[in-house]
Amino acid sequence: LAPVIAIDGPTASGKGTVASLVAEKLGFHYLDSGALYRLVALGSQKAAIDPENGPELGFLAQKMLISFKNGRVLLNAEDVTEAIRTEEVGLRASKIAVHPEVRDALVAVQHGFRRSPGLVADGRDMATVIFPDATLKVFLTATVLARSERRHKQLIAKGIPAKLVNLLSDLEERDARDSSRGTAPLAVAEGAKVLETSELSIDQAVQAVLGWYQT
Ligand code: C5P
Repeated sequence: LAPVIAIDGPTASGKGTVASLVAEKLGFHYLDSGALYRLVALGSQKAAIDPENGPELGFLAQKMLISFKNGRVLLNAEDVTEAIRTEEVGLRASKIAVHPEVRDALVAVQHGFRRSPGLVADGRDMATVIFPDATLKVFLTATVLARSERRHKQLIAKGIPAKLVNLLSDLEERDARDSSRGTAPLAVAEGAKVLETSELSIDQAVQAVLGWYQT
């Protein structure tokens, strides 16, 4: 089996950026597992499925056609790359992600990303549930304030209006839900290295992960 670097952490911790850069440096594949939950969230919104309805959401997740091509994300052949990135879809993703039916439906999809020469997998339960045999496990985090400020900068740079206070309370709401849910709660895996990035640049965080992997 190809090696896996599992990178878990809370929302807006910068793990997506760090994980994709580590993958690029090593020439590995990259799995953005959050995008899968966002796809189910968007799909369920379009199909008007109640975010509380686990069985129906699980059924939807099983039949969705998902593909990642040249940095674009397709849902049933429609390009939804930008549509899945809104705060609204992120918040809905954290609601639908609590259902075991949804999580189960996505297991095989995630395992499918493990191909030679290796995989960098980014999410909440990569090291605990999906790839418990990962070669390296990293828990990447930052304070809620640092994370809100980063998200705020990103949104403003994209010309999307955003208020720091609202982002802060959204992040707190998602953190609470992600860490307290019954199935696959966000937690530091046994043997994981914790990387606190509030005071680190992206490059420093990437170098730390590469350093751990190569030793
Ligand atoms: O990482 P991102 O913000 O894109 O993830 C959106 C939501 O999907 C998270 O708030 C979390 O609830 C859920 N998620 C999850 N398990 C993962 C990745 C994401 O439950 N492996």
